Amino acid sequence: SPEDLGGGFSRGELCRYGNIELSPSSGVLNYAQGLFEGMKAYRRPGGGGYTLFRPEENARRMQHGAERMCMPAPTVDQFVRAVKDTVLANRRWVPPRGKGALYLRPLLMGSGPILGLAPAPEYTFLIYAAPVGNYFKEGLAPINLVVDDAFHRAMPGGTGGVKTIANYAPVLRAQVDAKSKGFTDVLYLDSVHKRYLEEVSSCNVFVVKGGAVATPAAKGTILPGITRKSVIELARERGYTVEERLVSIDELVDADEVFCTGTAVVVAPVSSVTYQGQRHAFRTGPDTLAQELYTTLTSIQMGLAEDSKGWTVAV
Ligand code: PMP
Repeated sequence: SPEDLGGGFSRGELCRYGNIELSPSSGVLNYAQGLFEGMKAYRRPGGGGYTLFRPEENARRMQHGAERMCMPAPTVDQFVRAVKDTVLANRRWVPPRGKGALYLRPLLMGSGPILGLAPAPEYTFLIYAAPVGNYFKEGLAPINLVVDDAFHRAMPGGTGGVKTIANYAPVLRAQVDAKSKGFTDVLYLDSVHKRYLEEVSSCNVFVVKGGAVATPAAKGTILPGITRKSVIELARERGYTVEERLVSIDELVDADEVFCTGTAVVVAPVSSVTYQGQRHAFRTGPDTLAQELYTTLTSIQMGLAEDSKGWTVAV
């Protein structure tokens, strides 16, 4: 219906998954005017509904990204309500507990026609859902990364700090090449000095040395992950110091432990990073911070542990 819900958005509807109509001259197809989010819904223990993890954070990140991409965005309330409706409409696709989650993909795009380079005149916000298991086929098994400074995913002043579809274009070639050589994924360095860690294709990176944890500061070239933010808080509560700052590749090489965080992987221990042809190995296994954080965070997300922080939202 044309009922205006604020911000120019009209009431949406639930429909069967299928193709959508888009102008060939739409902003998204021609100028990559698009943003997305990634979220998971887990089945609650005892058969009583589902849980979402910090969905307002995804809503706010989309709003921030929309400002950068010259688009209007749904309000936090509109966004969260639409996500909840999508989960309920896809009840039968939420995997059994322990077998994965329902992945939700909100998309905001310039869907209206625009021939010359400018923001599109119309926008579409949609959400689709799909059941998922573990992101990396190894599950919590450690991953192997490669640093290739021929490839960069973001530059200062660019769009690396928001979740725009265009950020994933530079990643495709690098990721395919890395996988063909047996690596799980690529660890990107900054594009100016080619020396400081940025992030992995779809997750943030942390290094641990003794009781000190460091992660690249989110200053516009990396995505400020919601898992990253949560893990920083959990690690501090466990007595670790956590610094958000420049982290050089030399510091990583010297670390005890390296891990990645993201909605898809939650926390993934890194067993090795190959840089300039040299393979550097790191601690993994039961007594690591990565394992502890994985257990703590997934227990909260799945509704198995008390959520003293109010991070989960019931559906
Ligand atoms: N960096 C990039 C480039 C990503 O695509 C993602 C996944 N959204 C992340 C980091 C991790 O963010 P989050 O913890 O919010 O999933």
